[in-house]
Amino acid sequence: MKIGIVGAGMVGSAAAFAMVMRGIGSRIVLVDLDEKRARAEAEDIAHAVPFAHPVVVEAGDYVDLKEAEVVILAAGVSQKPGETRLQLLTRNRAVFQQVVGRVMEVAPKAILLVASNPVDIMGQITQQISGLPPGRVIGSGTILDTARFRWLLGRHLGIAPGSVHGYVLGEHGDSEVLAWSNVRVGSVELGSFAAQVGAAITADVRARIDEGVRRAAYTIIEGKGATWYGIGAGLARIVGAIEADENAVLSVSCVSDVLGVERVACSLPRVVGRAGVVAELMPELSAEEQSGLRASAALLKEAVEALG
Ligand code: ADP
Repeated sequence: MKIGIVGAGMVGSAAAFAMVMRGIGSRIVLVDLDEKRARAEAEDIAHAVPFAHPVVVEAGDYVDLKEAEVVILAAGVSQKPGETRLQLLTRNRAVFQQVVGRVMEVAPKAILLVASNPVDIMGQITQQISGLPPGRVIGSGTILDTARFRWLLGRHLGIAPGSVHGYVLGEHGDSEVLAWSNVRVGSVELGSFAAQVGAAITADVRARIDEGVRRAAYTIIEGKGATWYGIGAGLARIVGAIEADENAVLSVSCVSDVLGVERVACSLPRVVGRAGVVAELMPELSAEEQSGLRASAALLKEAVEALG
């Protein structure tokens, strides 16, 4: 499968590297406004191929995205000093108007996988610009927040994160909701599992994990300026689910109606396969989680409407 990546910055490149290491895709094309950067990243990543899987990694222009089945959109501009969130969004929308238009000209059948932040809003904008059915425009959403949640819970319980089943829902950002009430480990309800292994989820543990998920990006940015490995692996996971027509349940962002908020992009557990998002699941939530998710969706909807 041919995979395009527009925006060969840290996130786009980390996604390409993760795909090479996992053997996802047969050809990966990196496109960036900064052609020199795209060429350098492609060559550096290609040098990992002899240690991994036979994937072709190259830099290219938009025409080289022809017949790509998935295009990751990781391009973006960063916030200028004194710039408001809305001003930044307006500038990023202008970038996407250009980028999405060019991708659609050459690869109209591609699934668009949006990684640029704020990812839910950028995903919704991408769906509007492209006119594609909602299920073919996927935002990475809370895939990473969910991974952080499972990893922290797994570490506390002494269990592989892959055996921890739980989701972070709503916005990829401050209003996100950790759906504690339906976490299961193996098939066992979290509280019962924690008691059985002698690692109770006290209020303190819960607050620490909540903070660890919610503040992870801030802490990492403080130390190294940005985050890229985790999201790169998450993007590779989504592309892998598409390529293998896996019908995997992943928390990703997509435009839909959420608890009465109409046509809003935010994350829910969704079934991802060759056609993109093929089904959406609403977990059973506590009253508090449900109102948190509704508020998160409403906040995103407001932000999109403010953009006009
Ligand atoms: P991140 O950490 O999100 O990856 P970066 O700044 O490292 O952020 O990467 C963003 C990339 O997007 C940069 O390489 C930049 O050149 C690229 N970019 C910005 N605008 C465009 C555009 N209009 N078309 C293609 N690439 C773009």
